[in-house]
Parts: sequence; C-alpha cells; structure tokens
Amino acid sequence: MSDPRRAELAANLAAVRQRISAACAATGRDSAAVELVVVTKTYPAADVLRLAALGVLDVGENRDQEAAPKAAEVAAAGVHVRWHFVGRLQRNKCRSVAGYADMVHSVDSVRLARALSHAVTATENRASLDVLVQVSLDGSRGGAVVGGPEPDTALDEVVAAIATADGLRLRGLMAVAPLEWDPEQAFTLLAKIRAGVVQNHPTATLLSAGMSGDLEQAIRHGATHVRVGSAVLGQRPALR
Ligand SMILES: *Cc1c(COP(=O)(O)O)cnc(C)c1O
Repeated sequence: MSDPRRAELAANLAAVRQRISAACAATGRDSAAVELVVVTKTYPAADVLRLAALGVLDVGENRDQEAAPKAAEVAAAGVHVRWHFVGRLQRNKCRSVAGYADMVHSVDSVRLARALSHAVTATENRASLDVLVQVSLDGSRGGAVVGGPEPDTALDEVVAAIATADGLRLRGLMAVAPLEWDPEQAFTLLAKIRAGVVQNHPTATLLSAGMSGDLEQAIRHGATHVRVGSAVLGQRPALR
C-alpha cells in the first residue's frame, strides 16, 4: 500500500541523517556519538509510528497535554520509542511526564528538580529518570543561569539539586540558541559552560543542542543529542 507521508518522512530523515554525518565528519567525530531526537510536537501519533518503522527510536515532545496521549497511543500500538521531554515543564505535570518520559531535557530550577524527584519516586516501576539541565545562554527565562542571582535558577544550584535528588540521574545540559544570536557564538559559550559542569560531575557528559536550523554548529561544539522537528516532519503551523 502506498503511503506518501511515509515516503516524505523517509526522504526528510535521510537528508537529516546525511547532514548529521557530514557535520560529524567535518569535525572528526563519530556519527554514532550524536543521537537524533525527532521532535514530533503538533504531529499525530501516526507519524511517530511511521518514524519508528523508519528506525527512529528517540522522539521529542514539548507539551505534556499533547505528549501523554500520544505516548499512550504509540504504546497501545505495541511500538516502543524513547520519549524525550524538551519543553517548559510545569511542576503539576511532573507526575504525568514521569509516567512516560525516558529523558527530560528541560529542568531549569531547583523547585522543578524537587517536584520531578518526588514524581519519579512515587511512580511504580520507575527506578530513575535521566535529566538534563536547560541552560539559558542569554540569561532570559527558560533555563538555568550561570552565576545567576536567584538560588532557584542558578545553574550550580540546579545541577547540585539534581545530582543529589532521589530518582534523578544528572546526565548533562541542554540549550536553545537565543533567536538573535549567531549559533556559533551560542554553542561556543555552551561548550565552555559544559566543561565547567563536567569537571565537578564527570558523568554529566550529554549535550542536547542543535535543531533543524543549527545542528551543524551544535555538533561542531560537542552536541550528543540534536533535537530536530521541522526538517523531518515539515513546517509546523505558527503557534498561537
Ligand atoms: C520544537 C523544538 C525543537 C525542534 O525545532 P525545529 O526547529 O523544528 O527543528 C527543538 N527543541 C525544542 C525545545 C523545541 O521546542
């Protein structure tokens, strides 16, 4: 049976995988060291099933209201993928997210780390959850701030809270290049921040950086996870 959507996704996926291997080759990195997380927000579970059939094992979502039913639908189809929560997370959604997510990329406050820790320890059959600290590169909201004055959102405090929390495994950092910034400049700064964190937490080596428009620059600066949406699934309708 012909499925034009499957063919479209396959072609887009091949192009993105090609970009990843070219970027790795250009910096002498092994392309097996960079994981592709396909961000499926706004697209249906049927697309996740198509992607899984095309070999995609890692899927990202940014809103629990959308991700929870989608994850349930994919699981009900008997298909296993790893769910990455990459969006702003409200504390009252931690219980839900702890029920399906394999990695949360976007922990950016001590209070959120504590709420997620409680949620994980209260979830049956869940020993631990992999967590990345989202870093704000320009000091704006949505990300922990290096040397920030607020203890709740200062990077060192958030990192320490996760490292000592029951049920959470500190795996590394995540960031989004600020809109007006040159991605090269953003990811250079991120690499420096990461080096500082890894000094104190040698196992926190993951770096989630790079999207459809800037994955090459992120890979050059050490990304281990690129989060790619539109380049695989197509342009999303503008968010309201
Ligand atoms: C939507 C989203 C992405 C993917 O963005 P594209 O530009 O479509 O590749 C990556 N990271 C986060 C946090 C997102 O919300």
